[in-house]
Amino acid sequence: MKLVYWFINDKVDGKKEMKNLLGGKGANLAEMASIGFPVPPGFTITTDVCTYFNENNKIYHEGLKEDVKNAISGIEEAMNHKFGDKDNPLLVSVRSGARVSMPGMMDTVLNLGLNDETVEGLAMATGNERFAYDSYRRFIQMYGDVVMGVPHHDFEEILNGVKDEKGITQDLELTADDLKDVIERYKKLIINKLGHIFPQDVNEQLWGSITAVFDSWNNKRAKDYRKIHNISDEWGTAVNVQSMVYGNMGDDCATGVAFTRNAANGENIFNGEFLVNAQGEDVVAGIRTPQEMNLATKGNSTLPTLEEVMPEVYQELVVIRDKLENHYRDMQDIEFTIEKGKLWMLQTRNGKRTGKAAIKIAVDMVKEDLISKEEALMRVEPMQLDQLLHPIIDPVEIKNHKPFAKGLAASPGAAIGKVVFFPEEAINAKENGIDTILVRTETSPEDVAGMNACNGIFTSRGGMTSHAAVVARGMGKTCVVGCEAITVDYKTETIKIGDLTINKNEYITVDGTSGNVYLGKLKTIDPKIEDDFHDFMVWVNEIRRLGVRANADTPHDAKVARDFGAQGIGLCRTEHMFFAEDRIKIMREMILSDSREEREKALAKILPMQKEDFAGIFRVMDGYPVIIRLLDPPLHEFLPEDKELIKELSNEMNLSVEEIKEKIDSLHESNPMLGHRGCRLGITYPEITKMQARAVFEAACEVEKEGVNVFPEVMIPLVGIEAELSSQRIVVEEAAKETIAKYNSSIRYMIGTMIELPRATVIADKIAKHADFFSFGTNDLTQTTFGFSRDDVGKILKVYIDDKQILKNDPFAVLDREGVGQLLRTAIEKGRMTKPELEIGICGEHGGEPSSVEFCHLINMDYVSCSPFRVPIAMLAAAQSVIKEKKGEIKSFGKLLVK
Ligand code: PEP
Ligand code: MG
Repeated sequence: MKLVYWFINDKVDGKKEMKNLLGGKGANLAEMASIGFPVPPGFTITTDVCTYFNENNKIYHEGLKEDVKNAISGIEEAMNHKFGDKDNPLLVSVRSGARVSMPGMMDTVLNLGLNDETVEGLAMATGNERFAYDSYRRFIQMYGDVVMGVPHHDFEEILNGVKDEKGITQDLELTADDLKDVIERYKKLIINKLGHIFPQDVNEQLWGSITAVFDSWNNKRAKDYRKIHNISDEWGTAVNVQSMVYGNMGDDCATGVAFTRNAANGENIFNGEFLVNAQGEDVVAGIRTPQEMNLATKGNSTLPTLEEVMPEVYQELVVIRDKLENHYRDMQDIEFTIEKGKLWMLQTRNGKRTGKAAIKIAVDMVKEDLISKEEALMRVEPMQLDQLLHPIIDPVEIKNHKPFAKGLAASPGAAIGKVVFFPEEAINAKENGIDTILVRTETSPEDVAGMNACNGIFTSRGGMTSHAAVVARGMGKTCVVGCEAITVDYKTETIKIGDLTINKNEYITVDGTSGNVYLGKLKTIDPKIEDDFHDFMVWVNEIRRLGVRANADTPHDAKVARDFGAQGIGLCRTEHMFFAEDRIKIMREMILSDSREEREKALAKILPMQKEDFAGIFRVMDGYPVIIRLLDPPLHEFLPEDKELIKELSNEMNLSVEEIKEKIDSLHESNPMLGHRGCRLGITYPEITKMQARAVFEAACEVEKEGVNVFPEVMIPLVGIEAELSSQRIVVEEAAKETIAKYNSSIRYMIGTMIELPRATVIADKIAKHADFFSFGTNDLTQTTFGFSRDDVGKILKVYIDDKQILKNDPFAVLDREGVGQLLRTAIEKGRMTKPELEIGICGEHGGEPSSVEFCHLINMDYVSCSPFRVPIAMLAAAQSVIKEKKGEIKSFGKLLVK
């Protein structure tokens, strides 16, 4: 088995397609080297080695050491330096590189190969003593922290101590002698802490670092990151060992990161940041304010751009940028270093981008003939659309409020929350349903879980490529960075700016689209859809097979859904209509009635109100079907529990408090979710079904007379027994026929059922005899299949998913294909066996979750239905399912043998 792959000038073993084996970084370094770009020579140790190492008690394959030795010789030859040589030392970097990028999560060691002797050789060879000792100082610090486990801040303390003693503030002001002093103190620190010295043997340094990088695959922050981003623990990381090049040897040196297009808004403009006389991590850490790449992006910056400072190198980069985009056919995120005027490419990868940028770049690249429409559709993660659909701050509010601070707009959207300063606080607050804004000077990989838990992120330092900006963008989280005007004080837990002090738990609003930050909670509004989004969705809709409807209970929600292109309503929950103040009273009257006559009287008062609701929805959904579900929740939900309210009700209804309490008690159930709800209500009180059906059909007939095309579909919930549906169907059908005749109308309608109990899936062939359509209520079906209460399962799932890994996902969010999914397959097959034309959809929460939508596509449903804002997400997931199926990446399920 080949364990080590070279990219040493023209000796290149890898290519970009080998990401699984070489990691993203290694595969792309090999690719760039083979195109002929200037890549510092190096090699990649494969992810197989990582997996073997983790599975075999941290031992390596036989022969690996020999392979690494040969590869080091290869670099030595190419660079004309020798590893460990005291006169002409070769220095290398050791970096991680997983299949997908996990920015900053794993370890890196730079300047490896320095010791007390080689540092002198480096000083001689470069004629730059200060540089040599600064590199050695950095190496000991990094190696001491990453490999030996001495905390980073212990080193920082020493460094700051020396600066204080010298009365200086900048690292750059330290002389070679100062740095020698720092190095001696570092070495002492290591002996004091560990009882042994910093290793002088360069091979020991190399293997210490390689092992540390492999080990870092399993550090806490990497595991957290993988969990958040759904990355398999089994993939492992590769290790890249590469000749060092230096951006910190003087003013003809620089280092930077750049995007071939704008990662925030997708504009086709080369942009990025760089620092003169610095090493790569200085840019990312946000320690110095970086400079812009070119005049096009300079804005108000007073610092000179790369285009101005080093015009020739800049032009060389522009050429590489164009070649890279043509080669990769995607936006690239690159890292480069300029050593004494020579450009070196250190990395390229597909750049992370916001949802807005993803769409613009995909659409532009189709128009530029770089990619096909299908490729464009695969370039956007369905969940990324969520960012585009996030609320923004109402412009009127923006006019009336002055921001207290402005930073860089790193990731768009508006976020409101209480100020917290520590990631754990954001996590705790989230568990208690409290929104927070995580405020930090800058973020680091340790903060990732907190960044995920908060509503928005606000930092005082860092640029558009800082950790906070990159990670937030990937998460689709609103983020403002680099607001240098504020002081973040972790001790007092305050933000200070001028005379203003903002304390912990005060509300602020962060506008990640403009970079402004406001005190208090500002009003937000729904986002406006842009042209690129429109073009993109046209392509989505050309390709998808699955229909997409919305779950909406009001004309307003129905309108939002229609504007997103929903092809009907898949679920209108009528109970929500009864909670308005004027209605709930009548509803209670109905529930508290003793006789059928009294109940009918109360229902007659509700009928016109229901009719009005339905008419509004029908009008909005002109030409599209609307599924209206009959009353589902247990009746006691409509009765008050509060003493005062009971008293009020007793006055209004002329009943004693006792009588009302008695009624409430009589309706009490131990397991209301399994109780007197769904079709059981309509079977006990057919007059409720009758009233609702009449309201539906009267509304439909009246609206039809206005010239609207109406397609009502009445849905009977929680059916598990054939006769439940057949008896309710008769009630609905009678009301339909009567009403349609009364209005002399010719509307078409359907009567169907929800399939949300396991029994219903198993006898779906019988149920289908009485149903024109099935709609899967996967919320209840998941509840009843697993026997998990949908209201209380949170705590159990935390243990099951996070602690014990018994489940991979929350089955209420991501459809459980193995269990619930099989019931769906059975029901579809049995249902269609009885009635081939049966219309089949899903209206549980899963209808808007991409992987569940894919499953619905694979089992040949007709449509999915989800909340209005998830309609575009479901549409894209449906289109991607078609493309993946075409490419053979997924396969639709064959028939089950069910009869
Ligand atoms: C379901 O059970 O999946 C469903 C859509 O109905 P509800 O959530 O109203 O129970
Ligand atoms: Mg249900």
